[in-house]
Amino acid sequence: MKAICLLSGGLDSTVTLAYALHQGYEVTALTINYGQRHKRELDAARAVVAHYKVPHILMEFPLTGFRSALTDESIPVPDRRPEEIGYDIPETYVPARNIVFLSLAAGLAESVDASAVFIGANSIDYSGYPDCRPEFFQSFESMLEVGTKRGVLGHPVRIEHPILKKTKAEIVKMGMKLQAPLHLTWSCYRGGEKACGHCDSCVLRLKGFKEAGAKDPVPYED
Ligand SMILES: [Zn+2]
Repeated sequence: MKAICLLSGGLDSTVTLAYALHQGYEVTALTINYGQRHKRELDAARAVVAHYKVPHILMEFPLTGFRSALTDESIPVPDRRPEEIGYDIPETYVPARNIVFLSLAAGLAESVDASAVFIGANSIDYSGYPDCRPEFFQSFESMLEVGTKRGVLGHPVRIEHPILKKTKAEIVKMGMKLQAPLHLTWSCYRGGEKACGHCDSCVLRLKGFKEAGAKDPVPYED
């Protein structure tokens, strides 16, 4: 059984890839270069793929003109405290990103006869992005039922989101159990030499490692 796994190079998508492989899927990793402000995570995705020796498609799909702190260098990435995260939709939201990514991944899945798309979305320790919530994935699967050939034939591509309802600590523990190469991942929204430790992504990641009783192998600024 074949699957496509969206891989950004971050913690969540790497643990999701490890899980898909552990489940016995023949996985092709799909990384989308959507014009993110730094290339650091693309390098991380390449390193993770090299570790697992799985086929990798790096798709160039620039979201030119999309408003987000992750694609527009003139919009600063906010520093936030843990208690501030998840109550609003921050500037790092990329409009419709998971709709775009899942559409590309589902189309690719249909093309190579893969039955599932894996995505490392999370709706617990997350930034409040609407396209990371369970109801979004249910709706997306319904769309694939009516909008794709596989759907019409009665076996639509499934969207697998194994960490959707896990805390970041649970994701870290799952990654360690699956022996995922967490040291190769990059989660920071800023593409510095070291992770900043203050953006949403760093804050959630650090909290996850701390609550899991583990040390994050990635270097931080301070
Ligand atoms: Zn950061």
